[in-house]
Amino acid sequence: VAKRRGGHRIEYFDPAQKRVGINAITLENHLRHAIRYNELQLFYQPKVCSRTLEITGVEALIRWYHRDRGLILPEHFVPVAERSGLISEIGAWALQEACRQARAWLDAGLPALRMAVNISAAQTQRGDLVATVRQALDDSGLPPEHLTLELTETLLVENGEHARQLIGRLKELGLALSLDDFGTGYSSLTYLHTLPFDEIKIDRSFIQGLPHQAVSRAIVNAILALAEGLELDAVAEGIERPDEFACLQEHLPNCTLQGNLFCPPMSAPALQDRLRASTRFQPAVA
Ligand code: C2E
Ligand code: MG
Ligand code: MG
Ligand code: MG
Repeated sequence: VAKRRGGHRIEYFDPAQKRVGINAITLENHLRHAIRYNELQLFYQPKVCSRTLEITGVEALIRWYHRDRGLILPEHFVPVAERSGLISEIGAWALQEACRQARAWLDAGLPALRMAVNISAAQTQRGDLVATVRQALDDSGLPPEHLTLELTETLLVENGEHARQLIGRLKELGLALSLDDFGTGYSSLTYLHTLPFDEIKIDRSFIQGLPHQAVSRAIVNAILALAEGLELDAVAEGIERPDEFACLQEHLPNCTLQGNLFCPPMSAPALQDRLRASTRFQPAVA
């Protein structure tokens, strides 16, 4: 029997599910605490040019260091934050923090890096995302052309016309827009040619099939051709293995690469040390 409790959309189907539901509520309470006591942190993963292997930007990825449980990854708490509405507060914090850090790296004389921040569909349903983004830019003094927002297709599917307007208003701030996890949602080519996206990110599930699975190769090739035709930057995400990298380099020399083969997500101080040593990212050879 599915039932609703309060504002939380947690539905119980069987005893095992019920346990998940209770944990989600506990997690939600801990998450409120996490926001208040600064247990959230941003890690940064480089994006690398496939030709020069120079770093061109970073993606901010949220981490939660729970007092007792240690590191909790976003897949375990972002959905809870989305359902409870806490994502607005967390998202606003992430925007502020990422813009502040990008500005600090600029001021420290590091090469200009584009800062990418993930925005989930739920963040666009409450409050005013445009005002939140503008505030983060103003407070940090980060020029808007250094900021990229990564959005997913869920936003477009769930919100239709509202999403179109929102995307237009975000774009007017002068930042770049990226379509994340491309190919996994209800990908519609209409989005790509009617909305002002600057970049598409090919989901890791397709990269993982390289180089041996003909289907993955065909999909990746098609997405890259599409990106080229529409003059969008293409990012291959989640590159882990040298053979995935070799395959991309051979067939598709003009894209951006992101993955643990080059560099895993790192804390700001660790990445800064790494960048001071070199801004080129050689793939780690297995
Ligand atoms: P995403 O935006 O698609 O981020 C890419 C994910 O792939 C990250 O997982 C990253 O750590 C992981 N990744 C990168 N390279 C590799 C690789 O070589 N191998 C493997 N196996 N994984 C790799 P992460 O950090 O766990 O984040 C998961 C998702 O959580 C993100 O997917 C994004 O949708 C969401 N997320 C993360 N931070 C935020 C945030 O600040 N706000 C919002 N709204 N969502 C966030
Ligand atoms: Mg992303
Ligand atoms: Mg992605
Ligand atoms: Mg994802």
